[in-house]
Amino acid sequence: MSIRRIGILGGTFDPIHWGHLDVAAAAVSELKLSRLFIVTSNVPPHRPQPLASPFHRFAMVSLALLDRPNTWRAVDVELRHEAPSFTSHTLELFHARGYLPSDLFFVIGADAFLEIASWHDYPRILDAANFAVVSRPGFSVKELPLRLPDLASRMARPPLDEVQRQPLIILLDAPTADVSSTAIRQRLANREPITGLVPPPVQQHIEHHGLYSSMTPDRRGSGVTQTWTAGRLHDKE
Ligand code: ATP
Ligand code: MG
Repeated sequence: MSIRRIGILGGTFDPIHWGHLDVAAAAVSELKLSRLFIVTSNVPPHRPQPLASPFHRFAMVSLALLDRPNTWRAVDVELRHEAPSFTSHTLELFHARGYLPSDLFFVIGADAFLEIASWHDYPRILDAANFAVVSRPGFSVKELPLRLPDLASRMARPPLDEVQRQPLIILLDAPTADVSSTAIRQRLANREPITGLVPPPVQQHIEHHGLYSSMTPDRRGSGVTQTWTAGRLHDKE
């Protein structure tokens, strides 16, 4: 098997939480990944905007990785351009750096994978990397062959064959924390505690900057009216 087994976990991370870290840890241990890249997404202006700016979302991902091995990296590749990012373009960047599709494992929750047919470059994207799909509370990978019957023949469970060239959809039934960024944002807007839902440095960052204290998006960088909830320069602004 290739020694280059690269995991890529994409998301808006608005904010990152223990569920994301559980998903990543499950993929790293079950698939023996040599690296895990956490890629914060830019969100197209016509889609519902994250509440926190890309800068804050990336900062929180970095803080969540403070106590992880340095094989886990926060990657800013999708934030370097104003244009919205597509996973297929990000995977092409990895190919351009010399990685084969069979080296790459795009890590994704079962809830998100159920929407895969709506992704840019579908179905070609399934040939660009292995997809490591992890159960999420309420979304078991056991249901996937029935819910996505057209893709069932590409689905596999570990242990995988030693030599595997054709990218697969790998189903991982690992437990992950029952938490979502939506629930965290809602709790913060309601002034409810979020202890235990995110790593302590992420919680400190949220509190320090007053993130998510209202449900108004931070729109810096998206070219729309600027009404952010954190990052004011003066209290009276
Ligand atoms: P939101 O509520 O804003 O959609 P989220 O918690 O779903 O946030 P995302 O940034 O949308 O987080 O998710 C990034 C990736 O992590 C997706 O592939 C998603 O399926 C996966 N994921 C998030 N939370 C979990 C979890 N608790 N268990 C398994 N997968 C998860
Ligand atoms: Mg989500």
